[in-house]
Amino acid sequence: MEYRIAGILLSEERLAERIREIGQQIGRDYAGKELVVIGILKGAVVFLSDLIRAVPPSVDISLDFMAVSSYGDSTKTSGIVRIVKDLDGSIKDKEVLIVEDIVDTGLTLSYLVKMMQERQPRSVRVCALLDKEERRKVHVDVDYRGFAIPDEFVVGYGLDYGGRWRHLPAIHTVAQQ
Ligand code: 5GP
Repeated sequence: MEYRIAGILLSEERLAERIREIGQQIGRDYAGKELVVIGILKGAVVFLSDLIRAVPPSVDISLDFMAVSSYGDSTKTSGIVRIVKDLDGSIKDKEVLIVEDIVDTGLTLSYLVKMMQERQPRSVRVCALLDKEERRKVHVDVDYRGFAIPDEFVVGYGLDYGGRWRHLPAIHTVAQQ
């Protein structure tokens, strides 16, 4: 099935405003602390790059990345998570914030949170830009959430369809050709 970009669900301005708020909140929660921000490749990179610049300098941020892929077609999540790239550094005794583009069934994040917890960090929190609440199959605590969105496939601002459209500055829905 072929898709085309449809309407804008979240504009650049709405994204920027909400991300500024989350950055301030992270600033209040982690002031004076070291924080390892873990970006989940590739979808979270655009969000992460704006988010970390919205966090005040009172938080001592370092970055690490993890790449995961779920088997199955690109518009549905199979729930089987494969680690394609692991973290470069240890997170033992560190404060950790996982940054993800979207929580759908919750399977990817619940798997990642468990995996991080086994590495004995001081704390693990989750920040997700988008949340399709009604699709949830397993519970995940999303500590910082950008927007709750309806059950529609979205692209842009880091999110892709078959590798395309990550560079769009807003979040769009897609429609069949
Ligand atoms: P979950 O494991 O929560 O079901 O799935 C999370 C992953 O599914 C996200 O990181 C993302 O890669 C993918 N995903 C879920 N919904 C969408 C969507 O609407 N658009 C895009 N581009 N990816 C999505």
